[in-house]
Amino acid sequence: MSGFTREDLPFKYLGLPICAKRISKEECKLLVDKMIARIKVWSTRNLSYAGRVVLINSVLLNIHAYWSQVMILPKRVVADIEAICRSFLGKGQSVMAGAGNIAWKNICKPKKSGGICFMSIHEWNKAAVIKNIWAIASKKDNLWVKWVHNVYINKDSWWEYEAPIQSSWYWKKLVELKNEWKDQINTSQFAAGNYKISDVYNHMTVGNQVCHWSKQVWSRMNIPKHSFLLWLAVQDRLKTRRRLVRFQIATDAQCILCNESDETAEHLYFCCKFSKECLEQVKAWLGWGATTISLQEIIRWINRAKKSKFGRADISLHSLDFSLSYLENRGAFYGRETILKCSR
Ligand SMILES: [Zn+2]
Repeated sequence: MSGFTREDLPFKYLGLPICAKRISKEECKLLVDKMIARIKVWSTRNLSYAGRVVLINSVLLNIHAYWSQVMILPKRVVADIEAICRSFLGKGQSVMAGAGNIAWKNICKPKKSGGICFMSIHEWNKAAVIKNIWAIASKKDNLWVKWVHNVYINKDSWWEYEAPIQSSWYWKKLVELKNEWKDQINTSQFAAGNYKISDVYNHMTVGNQVCHWSKQVWSRMNIPKHSFLLWLAVQDRLKTRRRLVRFQIATDAQCILCNESDETAEHLYFCCKFSKECLEQVKAWLGWGATTISLQEIIRWINRAKKSKFGRADISLHSLDFSLSYLENRGAFYGRETILKCSR
């Protein structure tokens, strides 16, 4: 008569499973499936690295952020989401065999600390759930907060409150998180202020050290693809043939351009006769006589040169990226002549 239907828990509300018990991995399958469905559509479009970074940050992680505000996600689901995002970043697909180039926790670091600034799923989930703790502390004017105060807390102090044994899994988890959180904050200031999930998330993820190469890697003058290559190269994570042999993906470690030495990052950037010619031309143009074969050293040098207002410094790294980008294709799409022509 009322138009309402009676359903058993968990039922779906606004696309989310609602349940007072611990939510299972199977019940979160919908979230994982949603992400995979998006990737299947995108995987046909041959997206660039930069495009994939934008899509992960703006779409995939936002699907998760919506769920995060309502529930504490199981660890297995967080691991699945990370695996999906990592494989989409690396291969443009939802499934990837083997480990990624860089650990996910390092990818989630801010750019100035050497990461790509992806949202850390676990920390974001925590920051989103802490919003409920803040709502209870600040006695927000909503039905759930009033109900919690009347049924559970009564006249007790929220910060000293302990959950009874018979209470639900979700409530016990929330109280556990409250006890952990209260030691890290000034409780009266926290309750009096406004709550922004991103502010709390940033508070949780501070403390990352600044790395000296981030400015050069993510310089606005770089083409995004070159930034990504350089980001991998400075961390020695380029998929060079020597690394592929070590992982038993390839059998031959020789450089495909010169066939004279093993293909390593050092070789590709500095020692291969083709890249050497590119580098010599850039160095002659800059009037630079250094003979380093370390990318980190070159970046340090450019940082110093920029401070002394040496205008061409930025461009020099850009030229190196540009050369390497062609070298990375290892002659598969571009002939050796093209590589040299492009470096001029
Ligand atoms: Zn070579």
